[in-house]
Amino acid sequence: MHELSLAQGLLDQLHTLAAEHKVERIIRLTVTIGPFSGIVVDSFTFGFDALKLDNPLTREAVLEIEVPQPLYRCLDCGESIVLEQEVHELDFGLPYGGFTNKDCPACGSHRLSPVGGDELILHQVEME
Ligand SMILES: [Zn+2]
Repeated sequence: MHELSLAQGLLDQLHTLAAEHKVERIIRLTVTIGPFSGIVVDSFTFGFDALKLDNPLTREAVLEIEVPQPLYRCLDCGESIVLEQEVHELDFGLPYGGFTNKDCPACGSHRLSPVGGDELILHQVEME
């Protein structure tokens, strides 16, 4: 459900963009989905592909999704750490009050905090 309303929001964004640029067709778009967003990429794609058919503007639009690696920052020493294996866990709420149970490789601290990565960004649109 969450993904469907996000897909609808994205399509609304595309309609606004198309109106601004006076274009009639969206060919391709690239979206970045933050690794901490909790968005299920497959559901989002499914929702988008279903909803895009409602309008000639987006009917043939190809959706490309990029998911950057989840980045954390150590609050004690400032080290940046990529913890790929944590993503799934984070989908069900942040354990330890927003921190992970991993150690900082530099100083051993547990106070690792996710850096950004919780949003959905439309960053490239090809139109005609
Ligand atoms: Zn550290």
